[in-house]
Amino acid sequence: MIIKKTSFLFAALVFLLPICTQAQPETISADELKGHIHFLASDFMNGRVGPSEEYEIAARYVASQFAAAGLEPAIGKNDSTKSFFQGVPFAKTEYNDKLNWNILINGESMSFGHKEDFKIMYGSKLNHDRTEIAWAGYGIEEPDHGWNDFEGLDVSGKVIVCINGAPEKNGTPVLPEDVHKKYTGPNGFRAKFGNLFSKGAEALVMVDINGSMGIPFEMIPSEFRTEKYVYQDNRDRERSSRIPSIYYVKPSFLEAIMKGHPGSPFRYSDNILKNYKPQILEGVYLNSKVEVLNEEIIYTKNVVGLVEGTDPELKNEYITVGAHLDHVKKLNGQVCNGADDNASGSAGVIEIAEALALKPCKRSVIFITYTGEEMGLCGSRYFVGSGEYPIENIRFNLNMDMIGRSDNKNKESRAHYVVTNKKYLAALETFIGELNNGITDFPLIFDDDEHSPGGSDHQSFISREIPAFFFFSGVHEDLHKPGDDPEKIDYAKAESICKLGYTITEKLANMDEVPDFLKED
Ligand SMILES: [Zn+2]
Repeated sequence: MIIKKTSFLFAALVFLLPICTQAQPETISADELKGHIHFLASDFMNGRVGPSEEYEIAARYVASQFAAAGLEPAIGKNDSTKSFFQGVPFAKTEYNDKLNWNILINGESMSFGHKEDFKIMYGSKLNHDRTEIAWAGYGIEEPDHGWNDFEGLDVSGKVIVCINGAPEKNGTPVLPEDVHKKYTGPNGFRAKFGNLFSKGAEALVMVDINGSMGIPFEMIPSEFRTEKYVYQDNRDRERSSRIPSIYYVKPSFLEAIMKGHPGSPFRYSDNILKNYKPQILEGVYLNSKVEVLNEEIIYTKNVVGLVEGTDPELKNEYITVGAHLDHVKKLNGQVCNGADDNASGSAGVIEIAEALALKPCKRSVIFITYTGEEMGLCGSRYFVGSGEYPIENIRFNLNMDMIGRSDNKNKESRAHYVVTNKKYLAALETFIGELNNGITDFPLIFDDDEHSPGGSDHQSFISREIPAFFFFSGVHEDLHKPGDDPEKIDYAKAESICKLGYTITEKLANMDEVPDFLKED
């Protein structure tokens, strides 16, 4: 058995050899990552929604870690001091939720109250100015099956009113069973949403005329937020791209607007199809105006720290290492903790910063945690557009967005994704593959943005022709859900990703020249 023993030792030596040759920063540890993630993703932090008080605490936590690691504040202030905080402007609008609809019916006006008579299910186009109403019956368009409620009905710029379910004659579905099923039950309305958007209607009003949705009106929440935050650079776009709204109303609303109308479904409730004719309701208009209580610009924070380079020339070139710190709001009243998305990446930035500050490189390295990623890469777009560092001197961006889990198809192998734009893919695969050399004991899957389900802050740099990539767990069952908890993080994996991140950063920051990664060297 000695032979065996001997060969085992030899094998062990061969296996260990690559790891030993690469100096790994001891300060990067699973335990420290655990500490950061358990704090940032605790219920107390309420999902770190940017902007919010909890997000503010998270930003100050990162800044205190940067300071403790000896990073320099990296953002110039008007008084020529420096700060770790870069204010990112958001337009904050406060609305009065006492919203009323005023319906004009042949010159008579009737008022309907938010939550009392109607609920807002979706959308942001809530102002309606003398908007015509189209009665669309079931709101179904199935011409192949001989049924089309929109035939000859121009609903563009109008409000569509339709009832739940699908047509029946003497209790028998008019449409083939599988089609009928599509429109019935609690999710039946979803199949009707498409018409709203495809026909340019202003809004869709849904009425559960016979309770077949099985959810009492009172139980349905209204998705109306009295506070709205829009990234300043997005304001015009937001205004022009307000999403048509979907409302849910009590049957009494439909009864009122079709009172005395020959085609009213209440006239022959046992036979809705009698006198059934979708049409524009003459003389009936919807007026509603959301009262703006307050509008102001508020600032939420990117946290930015610097490890200045040691080389008199190359210190004016920058390698950036970043991760978004914000996450999303509660889901059904439960905190979305965002341990993997993206407390893990933020913790990784802190760990790599701490290690690199102990051994600065020739080039300067900027460490950033971003706000507003979940709202459209707002923090990273702001950073690259701010001119705080000349964009032409930023040589590379390493982004970490979920470094602590594996997606369902890679649970076994624990494989992790490395995602970039396809023009950088081949060269980065070679570069990172060579540097990895056994740092991770799991495979890396190289992918390009077009195929990868996830977008992230590296794209703000790529849009400025700066080579960049991101480490990504892949889409797992807890993404943007309350189950994305610190207890489910694979800390050994996160530690390895950080050590690889450190190795890549150190290499780039010390090379004579940073490649453009547009072609394989
Ligand atoms: Zn994320």
